[in-house]
Amino acid sequence: MAEKMKSGAVGEELEVARGIAEDLRARGLFGDAAPGYYIRTFGCQQNEADSEQLAGIAEAMGFVPAPGPEGAKLILVNTCAIREHAEKKALSVIGTYKHVKDADPGVIIGVGGCMAAEAHRAETLKRSYPYVDFVFEPSSAFSLPSLVRDAMGGTRRFLSAGANGIAEGLPKVREKAYSAWLSVMYGCNNFCSYCIVPYVRGRERSRRPEDVVEEAKRLVDGGAKNITLLGQNVNSYGKDGDFGCGIAELMRRICRIDGDFELRFMTSHPKDASDELIDVIAEEKKVVKHFHLPVQSGSDRILAMMNRHYDRERYLSVVEKLRARVPDVTLTSDIIVGFPGEEEKDFLDTLDLMRLARFDMIFSFIYSPRVGTPAAKMEPQIPRDVSAERMERLLALGTALSEERNSRFVGRTLRVLADGVSRTDPGMMTGRGAPARPVHFPGGEELTGKFVNVDITGSGAFWIAGELSEKE
Ligand code: SF4
Repeated sequence: MAEKMKSGAVGEELEVARGIAEDLRARGLFGDAAPGYYIRTFGCQQNEADSEQLAGIAEAMGFVPAPGPEGAKLILVNTCAIREHAEKKALSVIGTYKHVKDADPGVIIGVGGCMAAEAHRAETLKRSYPYVDFVFEPSSAFSLPSLVRDAMGGTRRFLSAGANGIAEGLPKVREKAYSAWLSVMYGCNNFCSYCIVPYVRGRERSRRPEDVVEEAKRLVDGGAKNITLLGQNVNSYGKDGDFGCGIAELMRRICRIDGDFELRFMTSHPKDASDELIDVIAEEKKVVKHFHLPVQSGSDRILAMMNRHYDRERYLSVVEKLRARVPDVTLTSDIIVGFPGEEEKDFLDTLDLMRLARFDMIFSFIYSPRVGTPAAKMEPQIPRDVSAERMERLLALGTALSEERNSRFVGRTLRVLADGVSRTDPGMMTGRGAPARPVHFPGGEELTGKFVNVDITGSGAFWIAGELSEKE
């Protein structure tokens, strides 16, 4: 069972953070004169949530947000390892910080996240990036104060082995008060043959339900209108614990919190998609009618090679149950194209499954070999041009399905959470609701963070739009 990090360990780190803050204050470095911190985040929602915690710890140490790396005294890079492209991008960004350190040797640079937990990448950072002061893997993030303290004293540190526990009670700085990530568990036990996550984030560790519900209450009291429960394999929540509460029960308990908010959850594994979870989506008004259920492939042969522990029949039976209980559900998925050994007939099975499942949206990726995973050694690896051509066909079908699915909203009134002014059109707002795509409508900044009703007047594959409704 997952253990909370010894409260002493977290307490000691927060004590170190307070010491750094006092030291800065004693030197007159507080308020407007306080040193800045800058965090660059790559990858998934879990990393975004982790960066909110890094920001909270940085502020506990007395740092204040800086608009960019130039001028910041503490630069943190929260990396992703899910694809090689993400790693190369992070390394290239870290490379650009050399000139920041050259200009001001007092700047502290730290690298965390999944890439930092890969031994060969940590070694590269140690040898080829001498201006990086420390490297820490995801479950060691709570050690940030002592890493910063040691860097201030001129000591470089490389934390490769995580404590693999759960650090409760760390401060967080949330990007938006009205929308919050809420991590309910960490790690993954599944060892899908292509995936690096179990190697870099460790085994599944569920937070205790009372800790999660308490945090959800604080979020709602603080104005959160949207809470997304996060876990690499969120629907296996609680299986490692002795507290008799799975994801379905946890969601029901959170829904009982007073207040006008909506609840989402991600990411789910099809083998753990239970009838109870489907019942919660169907029955609880606060749960958004959206299920993100990665299928990865429609071929049983490839699913077995991926070590996914389900076949297409099992996946489609979950979809069937879901649609029977929640007819209007939005269903989204992840698909990998060009997995080792994928033949044309396997790929056609994937297209066929997409049509049967009628996905609202898919996130599709060309397979990227990850060092240390079984699939990286499987043969044959698929040539890039073959994968690219398959990807084009997959995207064409995905687009056609999205267009058809989005059109069902036209003529209806949707309740959405206004999520800011459009970047391309200042007179338009975007909002999030049950559809996979954001909903666009005319409005101003004052609506941000509020629920509004929108009469939907049009849609395409990538958009849904309408007018603010008069209806209550
Ligand atoms: S379920 Fe599979 S793909 Fe998802 S994080 Fe775990 S190992 Fe990776």
